[in-house]
Amino acid sequence: MTRKGLPNFDNTELAFRHLSDSDLRRGKMLFSLLSRPGLVAVGSVFARIALALRIPIGWVIRPTVYAQFCGGETIEESDSTIEMLYKNGVKTILDYSAEGATTEEELDSTCSEILAAVSAASDDPRHAFSVFKPSGLSLYGLLAKSPDDFTLQEEESWGKVVRRIRTICSSTADAGGRVLIDAEESWIQDNIDEIANAMMNDYNRENAIVFTTIQLYRHDRLEYLHQLHKKAVEGGFKVGVKLVRGAYMEKERERAEKLGYHSPIQPDKASTDRDYDAAIEFCLDNLDVFEICAGTHNSDSTFMLCEQMQKRGITNDDHRISFSQLLGMSDQITFNLAAHGYNIAKYVPYGPIREAMPYLIRRAKENTSVAGQTTRELSLIKQETERRSSLK
Ligand SMILES: Cc1cc2nc3c(=O)[nH]c(=O)nc-3n(C[C@H](O)[C@H](O)[C@H](O)COP(=O)(O)OP(=O)(O)OC[C@H]3O[C@@H](n4cnc5c(N)ncnc54)[C@H](O)[C@@H]3O)c2cc1C
Repeated sequence: MTRKGLPNFDNTELAFRHLSDSDLRRGKMLFSLLSRPGLVAVGSVFARIALALRIPIGWVIRPTVYAQFCGGETIEESDSTIEMLYKNGVKTILDYSAEGATTEEELDSTCSEILAAVSAASDDPRHAFSVFKPSGLSLYGLLAKSPDDFTLQEEESWGKVVRRIRTICSSTADAGGRVLIDAEESWIQDNIDEIANAMMNDYNRENAIVFTTIQLYRHDRLEYLHQLHKKAVEGGFKVGVKLVRGAYMEKERERAEKLGYHSPIQPDKASTDRDYDAAIEFCLDNLDVFEICAGTHNSDSTFMLCEQMQKRGITNDDHRISFSQLLGMSDQITFNLAAHGYNIAKYVPYGPIREAMPYLIRRAKENTSVAGQTTRELSLIKQETERRSSLK
């Protein structure tokens, strides 16, 4: 049964009306493959070897996983995806997907690419936010170290990281945009939090321009959100916050076990879900301070947020509340929210195929490891294929 004024995530006609029959066939083929963990594991190893040996694999990647999960190799090439989304009520978050830079020059080049995305989003209503991963702008080891222990050379390098991030935030502010700072592994997150909070303090005076990210699969993050609220009230700034469950669960648990410390991850999925929903409610209770972006493919949490908005008399298009999913995933949530006038945007990763490979491998693994995700995608695609066949 559907509830008046609320989206119905089982409506596959709305969910997939932007896809042709052949797009649906590609999705079906892809998610069928991703539902086989053995195949994904072998495929990922093969892709890594091919990358290392510089064996060209673009011909197999481009029409399959890349076409499903990425916009194109450049911002210009992503334009048809951006336009298709906008026509269907969905905005774009351009996500430059290169990872693993190891020199200052490469980090500067990633920063320039993010600035190009900020500039592309400026004065273009099709874009909702810009986004970046702090590890794309810093040598990884530096993020993992406490600034108190930096050598002189590391201090200099750290200064460059902060300058890169400040340039992105100030350019976003000048362009009248908003920027999301992704969250990463817990052992580099303290430094990321420190910079994100400093940027929010500097740029979020009237409204939220800079958004930090909180991962509720960590058992300490709900309390962290409460502390952040306190800091913002005392400091007189707004908190922009993307709420996610968290993408690095296996890696976090393995490292904690290997190094013998208490895992930062919640004991079970139910605890993550509980804290995720509690974080949403806490932000809604304090909308004088918070602007939120719910980054999730979980339909229960999404529905709960819609329901709470309705209960509190918050309009669907209130600028303080946005939703987001990744391109190629959970279209039933995205396009049904769009049809109801919510602020909804897709992450649209773009970049050279080679450099997007770590992102694509993560998508493949996530679709295999998140229980039910692939089955859900597959059954919805099948349902829509059958619905269309019945009309012919
Ligand atoms: C727009 C967007 C932006 C994102 N940005 C980030 C980001 O900046 N940083 C980041 O880390 N991730 C990010 N993610 C990924 C996100 O954190 C999740 O990995 C992914 O979306 C799956 O979670 P879910 O809420 O969609 O739904 P679900 O499928 O309901 O939840 C799966 C998630 O629950 C948690 N979980 C699963 N099993 C357990 C268990 N046994 N114990 C405890 N917890 C468990 C894990 O976090 C898992 O990923 C983003 C996702 C989206 C859609």
